[in-house]
Amino acid sequence: MSRIFSGIQPSGELHIGNYLGAVKNWVALQDQFETFICVVNYHAITVPYAPDELRTRTREMATGLLAAGIDPSRATLFVQSQVPEHTELAWVFNTLTPLGELERQTQFKDKAGRQEQIMAGLLNYPVLQAADILLYRADLVPVGEDQIQHLELSRVVARNWNARFSSDAPYFPEPQPRLTPMRRIVGLDGQAKMSKSIGNTIGLTESPDSIWDKLRPAVTDPARQKKTDAGDPEKCPVIYQLHRAFSPADTVAEVESNCRGAKWGCIECKKSLHTNLIADLAPIRERAAALAANPAEVDALLDAGASKARVVARQTMHEVKARMGLPEAQ
Ligand code: ADP
Repeated sequence: MSRIFSGIQPSGELHIGNYLGAVKNWVALQDQFETFICVVNYHAITVPYAPDELRTRTREMATGLLAAGIDPSRATLFVQSQVPEHTELAWVFNTLTPLGELERQTQFKDKAGRQEQIMAGLLNYPVLQAADILLYRADLVPVGEDQIQHLELSRVVARNWNARFSSDAPYFPEPQPRLTPMRRIVGLDGQAKMSKSIGNTIGLTESPDSIWDKLRPAVTDPARQKKTDAGDPEKCPVIYQLHRAFSPADTVAEVESNCRGAKWGCIECKKSLHTNLIADLAPIRERAAALAANPAEVDALLDAGASKARVVARQTMHEVKARMGLPEAQ
């Protein structure tokens, strides 16, 4: 059975961009593959943060993932800092990663532009990501489109390590991305990708009222000034995309014809989306509320997940150290 690995930062709320671009795919794939899902808190500390908030958000992220359908009996769900081999392998990979490869990463350039002082951890972020994936020797990484460049780097690292230490039979696979049809969800501003750091998100467990407050002013086809103007759904970056994700096919067809024929105004269209979206997310919201009332249960599930992950992680580090001439801790 092939392995998949994917991670998510506990740096903010779980939003529908994460859900449609990645998490929904994890839930679907957990029966087909041996699945490792990691809340990557070491990645989250590459930018300034508050420790108490990080602790809370780590548990909240795990709660959201469980509520979205990650099943600990079918997938290994754990927190990165509970498996120390991640940082150990990242150091090894740092010695095999060309600096130029790191400096040209788009996400580094974006994030560095927003920091007063740029720390080495932010630059080395994709090396830790390569370690996350390769520690489990995962072949497939279900992620959104924004992660493709990082995955290319993981392949470079795997190739460099294999060439140096296992040229006979490559020890690390070169991991490939596995994208969903919804590989890039646009934020409510209609411009950038939906992302917590931009504040253009809809939370996966947000209340129906709060979701409506966000949908009502969301950008639609800019050429459509009034209800009697014919609209073009393909030019409606947010609402039509979300209809396709959350509404049944006959509603999507109805939306398209009513928009083109100027039969529905944008508010009617948004109301229809709101109804379908909150109905689709209701079970997730309810499960999240139940889990949030029992944080000790979530912590226990994460402890068990980390123990399972460590069995694989230790084995990989054992092989890596043996091939690299590095004695192990006794
Ligand atoms: P964020 O970008 O909100 O900080 P992460 O970097 O933790 O989220 O990404 C978690 C997963 O969600 C990744 O697989 C990423 O590709 C995916 N993802 C994040 N934002 C989007 C989006 N707007 N559309 C599709 N996938 C996304």
